[in-house]
Amino acid sequence: MLRSTSTLAALVVVAALVVPTSTANATEAPREPEAVGAGGVVASVDPDASQIGIDVLRRGGNAVDAAVATAAALGVTDPFSAGIGGGGFLVFYDARTRKVSTIDGRETAPAAATENLFVENGKAIPFAEAVTSGLSVGVPGTPRTWQRALQRWGTISLDKALKPAEDLARRGFTVDATFHRQVTENAARLGDFTSSEALFLPVPAVGSTFRNPDLADTYRALRKDGVSAFYKGGVGRDVVKAVNQPPVKPTSTRTVRPGAMTMTDLGNYNAPQREPSHTTYRGLDVFGMAPPSSGGTTVGEALNILETTKLADESRTQYLHRFLEASRLSFADRNRWVGDPSFSDVPTGELLSQAYADSRACLISATTAMPGAVAPGNPRDPEPCGTDGTEAPTPYEGTDTTHLTVADRWGNVAAYTLTIEQEGGSGIVVPGRGFLLNNELTDFSFTPVTPGVPDPNLPGPNKRPRSSMSPTIVLDHGKPVMALGSPGGASIITTVLQVLTQRLDRGLTLRQAIEAPRASQRNATNTQAEAAFLATQDDEALTALGHRFASTGEIGAVTAVERLPDGRWRAAAEPTRRGGGAARVVWPR
Ligand code: GLU
Repeated sequence: MLRSTSTLAALVVVAALVVPTSTANATEAPREPEAVGAGGVVASVDPDASQIGIDVLRRGGNAVDAAVATAAALGVTDPFSAGIGGGGFLVFYDARTRKVSTIDGRETAPAAATENLFVENGKAIPFAEAVTSGLSVGVPGTPRTWQRALQRWGTISLDKALKPAEDLARRGFTVDATFHRQVTENAARLGDFTSSEALFLPVPAVGSTFRNPDLADTYRALRKDGVSAFYKGGVGRDVVKAVNQPPVKPTSTRTVRPGAMTMTDLGNYNAPQREPSHTTYRGLDVFGMAPPSSGGTTVGEALNILETTKLADESRTQYLHRFLEASRLSFADRNRWVGDPSFSDVPTGELLSQAYADSRACLISATTAMPGAVAPGNPRDPEPCGTDGTEAPTPYEGTDTTHLTVADRWGNVAAYTLTIEQEGGSGIVVPGRGFLLNNELTDFSFTPVTPGVPDPNLPGPNKRPRSSMSPTIVLDHGKPVMALGSPGGASIITTVLQVLTQRLDRGLTLRQAIEAPRASQRNATNTQAEAAFLATQDDEALTALGHRFASTGEIGAVTAVERLPDGRWRAAAEPTRRGGGAARVVWPR
């Protein structure tokens, strides 16, 4: 409930008035939904970022080098989705060892957090208030992820990997309609913080150049001093100050709760390597992100459920019906069983077992949709068609984030999803540092989702909130087939599932699978569906089976790569969602 200002932030406002961060009349780099060729591929939501990744590959860097450089560039051009103030998950396929590994760069609650982090006077605080607060900021994991990934698998230093993004932040990029919309949608809360207002307001015009010299300097500090500048040094001190004393404008009437983060929290932050989640699907190996993300177990369980039917032979309606029902069932399990594995005994292996999926698939009827939210099963003791307890609905999650996918000339693949949680994160720019802080801790359940039932996703000290991020790599006998991921909060899971099944079962090309209208069933009465989905006949046929739909805006923004039989690669991105993505290849052929 505290409001505070900082003199430094006030100075930044003055500086911004003198040196405008945007000027008119630049041209935007071209977007491209597909690129095919050799030498390496990059797909991200942004042309400048993809190009930076391609340049790294062209100079001999590998997939991890390019993934870090691209991610750093997205911190510049897509700052409302991701950046060093947030976290994410990286899944990496090493062509030499044919092994898939992952890095968990999830944000972590400060040591002072308790189960009642978001409870006041016995009641959950309003979600809308939690999102714009210091309280919701987790210790960022992105800088540590970059450092670990480069150390473990990269060939270039952090210094080198961040240089193009630093230059981009200094030189500026052309504001597109998406960036313009993101600032506009967040303008009210950005305007409540001196630092955020100074960086982003007034809303920069489409076509103008947006520069972020503070972020350039922050990247420079990381290049020079390594990530200790962030976790032990001046950048970290400014993060802690912004979290604990958010730079609220004196004129603001917003209730902004402070957090309680310390330099010890930052110093203790670790981005551990974790075993990937794994399941087989129609003879292929599907690797994803294990808990604390629910992506790997939920995509995997749904695939296992779907594997009980030959989707390739089903009618379109039956395919979609089964896709929605498998999503519903696996979300019930996700909501009941998945949280930070350091705090609860998550049944990851059991959730991914075919025996368990079979016991869940038996609940699907070919003729009638389940009426609404269903109960989870018990993966430790699967019973055919058995359920365990009361229904487990899906709590709200933000719908932003960004995903990039890279493959290099050696066949290494990186699938990397990173986020600051909702669009614009907490809305708080770290004064003088040029980046937004996440509000990832709102991914915790504020109170138990089902009263009386243990919830593995309640807050706790040094705990990671459950995620839905689903960076995914598919192999065939140890060789890459495809890799993909998406933003979209909990709908990430259904988006990845829909694209995978359309590509692997239904004969769509990668580009068609990405472009196709989306629907997302997350154990609720209504399935969310894009307008384009509702404009097809599909919803009528599905409604006849008992499905109910609610219209929603865009679902997800996929990027993906796939290896072609002749050894070339295809990169693919959205043709229109998020304004269209940018697929690039080193040598187009
Ligand atoms: N915070 C979400 C998660 O970790 C992602 C948010 C989003 O995609 O917007 O699952």
